[in-house]
Amino acid sequence: MRRPFIAGNWKMNLNLASSVSLVEKLIEGLSGVDGVEVAVCPPSVYLHAVCQAASGSILGVGAQNVYHEPKGAFTGELSPAMLKDVGCRYVILGHSERRNILGESSEEVNKKVEAALAADLTPIVCVGELLSERKAGRTHDVVRRQFDGSLSGLTAEQMTRAVIAYEPVWAIGTGEVATPQQAEEVHLGLRQLLESRYNKQVAEAVRIQYGGSVKPDNAAELLAQPNIDGALVGGASLEAEPFLGIIAGAKN
Ligand code: PEP
Repeated sequence: MRRPFIAGNWKMNLNLASSVSLVEKLIEGLSGVDGVEVAVCPPSVYLHAVCQAASGSILGVGAQNVYHEPKGAFTGELSPAMLKDVGCRYVILGHSERRNILGESSEEVNKKVEAALAADLTPIVCVGELLSERKAGRTHDVVRRQFDGSLSGLTAEQMTRAVIAYEPVWAIGTGEVATPQQAEEVHLGLRQLLESRYNKQVAEAVRIQYGGSVKPDNAAELLAQPNIDGALVGGASLEAEPFLGIIAGAKN
């Protein structure tokens, strides 16, 4: 049985005071919630404060990126060990904004995934097609290519420690959400890829989140799909009430 996992990607939003205050509200709202894993991923400059505010609670904290080298002359980058040092448990990798705006390739994502796993961080590895690719009927090819490239070379044990997030790019921040059927079809395809590359046990163990305009009013239906194991939430994770509403949808 896969435990649902809801993660909030704050992207480049909020400030120090609002980050800490949001964490405090979430912790209050999460009292009594169990059976769901929950994390927030603030901007890196606020990770330390957010980890401290969340310490001792069920709220986990993740970064939005990491560099694959352990240390050295890499101006502006952060190592996996630094993220662990401040209390992170997760790191989002290969988000479409990093792939499409910052030109990050699946090969780079793959190196980061390996480095994150070696540091005992849980990578949340994003894959997803552009609208033009979906319209051209290439969704499965694109997702398979990103899956193969970003998760290349992982052992079965490493694979089961990673989380995949299917995020159709056309649904991110647009208010346009994939239908539960559209999302489920791709999630099932990903699970089949896991089974053919590894085995049924690995395929059954890996959690696959959906991301793209998840809101309290569509979360429950998406999360009820057999192969959707959680959500990666952007806009609706910036305030406590909608994020808690999505978490409630995962419990039902
Ligand atoms: C995201 O950026 O990962 C995301 C899913 O954003 P939104 O929920 O705002 O579409």
